[in-house]
Amino acid sequence: MAAGRLGQNQESIQATNRSLVLELIHKEKVCSRAYLAKNSGLQPATVTYIVNDLMRLGVIEESGFIQGEKGRRSIGVSISPKSFCVLAIRLTRVGYLLALFNLRGELIEERSFSNSDKSRPNESIADVIANAVGLVDDNQSYKPLSICIAVPGPFNAVEEEIVLMTGAEVWNMKAMRYDLEKAFDLPVMMIHDANAGALCQYWMNDQRLSKGTAVYVSVGQGVGCGVLVNGEVLEGNLGFAGEIGHMSINFDGYECACGNRGCLERYTSSTALVAIINEKYATDLTFRQIADEIGKGNDAFMSEYRTCCRYLGQGAVNIINCFNPAVIVFGDEMTRIAPDLLLSIVKDEVDRRTLPQIHSTTTLSVDKNRRSAELYGAGVVAIRYVFDHIADML
Ligand SMILES: [Zn+2]
Repeated sequence: MAAGRLGQNQESIQATNRSLVLELIHKEKVCSRAYLAKNSGLQPATVTYIVNDLMRLGVIEESGFIQGEKGRRSIGVSISPKSFCVLAIRLTRVGYLLALFNLRGELIEERSFSNSDKSRPNESIADVIANAVGLVDDNQSYKPLSICIAVPGPFNAVEEEIVLMTGAEVWNMKAMRYDLEKAFDLPVMMIHDANAGALCQYWMNDQRLSKGTAVYVSVGQGVGCGVLVNGEVLEGNLGFAGEIGHMSINFDGYECACGNRGCLERYTSSTALVAIINEKYATDLTFRQIADEIGKGNDAFMSEYRTCCRYLGQGAVNIINCFNPAVIVFGDEMTRIAPDLLLSIVKDEVDRRTLPQIHSTTTLSVDKNRRSAELYGAGVVAIRYVFDHIADML
């Protein structure tokens, strides 16, 4: 056998073709059988066979007439929003989010929970499972097909282990996977939360990101980025690519548990904002309380937030110099305090610290569309798994 190459049998070719048809329908939202044949390269008879099969399974449905080429009207098909769902989980340092999405990627229901003991997240695993079972039981008109967990990092994607969560004990992902598989008897996947946020940006927001290089920066309790190259996540050797939270912006700065000094997330994460304010003003406030104070016009806290945004700007400069992305999208809880202000401060830093030819061709934005792109991205991974394995699942 030739090393590293395997032949394709009839079944794997059929699975690939079904997945291709589903991806095309997802991308277009509604399209005709003729469009699918033209854009998949498959014979019209093969497309008709696949479409009939997917309709029989209830994964796609006919959705009225659409105007085709040369003024011809044809029946459109779309992904069905009924019957099936995926379960997405996002873990953080202080709690977790659960959501069900239909196969179009539309939210059915989202719930948010705190860990009972914030420094010991593993004691919440039984709660995560129980609350996930509760969410699925309360939405019985949808049959769950797969599960994906967005995890904080640095995350070893090969060993499926969180290596470090600054300021907290790490979640035991092997235990959580085992318990989820036992409770639901479904495939369980994991993805680094910033990579999930990146996939969400192009799969649910902007199909243009399927070409070239784009970066999503998750600015939450930690900081990380997901790098998309032609729509695929750049993983690196073990999945640690994009760990910009542990890129130093100050050679002699604060010590970090990763072994480095001056790590970006010690200056610009929500954890950093809380630590800086509580130390400087001798308070014991949570991030939510600080965000509320800033919203009410607390100038001192606002000034600290602006400083965090300037550090984020320096992080963006480093991302630009490393990857030369066409697009950088910022998201997660730090961006929600004052998204427009954060963006303008980051843009100022980028304009001052990069070459004009570079910053004039880099588009910066904040994801204001949803509470957690990371959670939606976990949904994307779970849906893509269903598209790739539909024949085995139904
Ligand atoms: Zn570090």
